[in-house]
Amino acid sequence: MTFCHPGVVKKRVAVIGAGPSGLATVKALLEEGHIPVCFEKAESLGGVFRFGESDGVVWYSCRLTSSGLLTAFSDFPVTAERAEHMRAHEYVSYLSSYCETFDLLRHIRFGARVDAISSDQKGGWRLRFVDAHGEHDDCFDSVAICSGLHQYPYVPSLAGAETFTGTLMHGSQYRRSEQVAGKKVLIVGAGESGADIVAEVAEHAGETVLSLRRGVAVVSRRSFGRPRDYQTSRILNGAAHWVFQTRNPEDDRKRNIYRAVFLPLVIVDKCLQILYRVVWETLPLLFSTRLEEIKANLETRRITKQLLRESGGTVAEQFGTKDDDFVRAIAVGKCRRTGAIARIEGGRVLFEDGSQLEPDIIILCTGFETRMPFLSEDIAAAPRFLHTFNPDVGASLGFIGFLRPAFGAIPPLAELQARWFALVQSGQRELPSREAMQQSIANWRSYRAHIFRAVRGRLDHLVDHTPFCDALAAQIGCKPGWRELRRESFAFRLRFFAAPFVAAQYRLVGPHAKKSLARDVITKLPIAHPWPDLINLYLRWLMSRVLHRALGEDFSPKLALD
Ligand SMILES: Cc1cc2nc3c(=O)[nH]c(=O)nc-3n(C[C@H](O)[C@H](O)[C@H](O)COP(=O)(O)OP(=O)(O)OC[C@H]3O[C@@H](n4cnc5c(N)ncnc54)[C@H](O)[C@@H]3O)c2cc1C
Repeated sequence: MTFCHPGVVKKRVAVIGAGPSGLATVKALLEEGHIPVCFEKAESLGGVFRFGESDGVVWYSCRLTSSGLLTAFSDFPVTAERAEHMRAHEYVSYLSSYCETFDLLRHIRFGARVDAISSDQKGGWRLRFVDAHGEHDDCFDSVAICSGLHQYPYVPSLAGAETFTGTLMHGSQYRRSEQVAGKKVLIVGAGESGADIVAEVAEHAGETVLSLRRGVAVVSRRSFGRPRDYQTSRILNGAAHWVFQTRNPEDDRKRNIYRAVFLPLVIVDKCLQILYRVVWETLPLLFSTRLEEIKANLETRRITKQLLRESGGTVAEQFGTKDDDFVRAIAVGKCRRTGAIARIEGGRVLFEDGSQLEPDIIILCTGFETRMPFLSEDIAAAPRFLHTFNPDVGASLGFIGFLRPAFGAIPPLAELQARWFALVQSGQRELPSREAMQQSIANWRSYRAHIFRAVRGRLDHLVDHTPFCDALAAQIGCKPGWRELRRESFAFRLRFFAAPFVAAQYRLVGPHAKKSLARDVITKLPIAHPWPDLINLYLRWLMSRVLHRALGEDFSPKLALD
């Protein structure tokens, strides 16, 4: 049966994947009156966060690195108990409630794996999928690919790996601490999953060794007793990135002008920073009655700084690991750090620094690679306009969720992509010309290389969370502006700028706005920064604005409202 209706506004759209991105896409399509059909190869919800004893990629105790407040969709806030870091199963239950509330389940075909999609020459897409009844073909006006960034484990080629006599596994195969109890374990890599796995393994294994090729930017999951990502506020991102977040030498001239023009205020800024560091960062390390604890705190800080130095940039210039428990494990001697693996010879692993180890288990926490085996490679690998549309293919194919914020969470970004995709399908929004899309891709690419210089050439999906959200929201028409904010109370405005950067702000205006819900969510948010920090950030924002007005676009702040 063919359902291709080129040009019609109400479209039949295939959605591949029922992870957070797929669910947000099904909902956005329904809101616009389309007919979504979602194909999910697994038998249940949750995407990456679905735990299975023998499948999936997360381990039993996995906790999200982004807070509930930042991970929540714009019109489905988390409950107070889930505002901080949810366990994976709690997030899956949040997704379940999302489906129930918006009646999404009946649009999802579980156990249906999409094997191929191809253009049908009439502007639509032919899709081949396999389910329990066999192989089928179907035809759609548009397709949204939501098959995820973290589905295919990346296994590096290690010389001699095939000779290893112990157990060699990827981090995605680690399930429970019982697997490593009493064993000698070598873990490779300390990205986000790796860091959490190291911390857990170090508590249960007989010996834990961490092999790192380079340094890593590590921040603690929590700061001031709250999730650290609460500090991703608009005011923090209100100044230009080069004022204090990044250190790219190409910005030295701007930094020098800034310092020279505002010298007295820059001195106040420095003093406030010192006060902030001493009172909020250093003193808490000393708050313990046990000397051992104080020593461990200080050693954790020393190693964290050393790892950052070796990483080649500031925390804001790369994808940071948002948990320092593994650093603490090194600090207290529960884990030992070693260099990169040179080769494996039978039971022995030889490292580049000349040392060697005979581990029982090697766990490769080496990340994931993005694959879309159902799509031709030239389309799958091509750069996309705002990570969503391929300029050569156009509006009928959307890529949702293939982006990773350095700080922040993927689901709300995917939700913005989904809302935009749905509006484009309805003809409510139009894509710019192919040339304009390509220009935008080039601009974001050079911005990215400039900002994230510590990971240049790697992590193609990395985006600067807050400006990227605003850029997507501008396409939708849901980016709030001064006009709306002026009518709000001081308490609301304070939270809008100084509270966590939540997705609810994109329901204040524009298509499918839910103003009273959004106002309610924002009004209840905690202020993200302690007062000295807040004053400091306000000063920076003010100075950055003055320079922007006086000296033009080159000095524009990271975030601006119209
Ligand atoms: C251990 C771990 C912890 C993480 N923690 C966080 C965090 O704290 N915050 C955060 O924002 N992100 C986190 N991430 C990233 C996480 O991948 C994303 O946030 C989230 O999963 C994105 O959702 P998604 O729907 O795009 O992709 P996924 O969750 O990967 O969902 C994709 C879905 O598509 C299905 N699928 C794939 N191919 C096909 C096919 N051919 N046919 C049918 N179905 C298909 C898959 O079965 C899957 O259900 C973490 C990742 C890992 C691995």
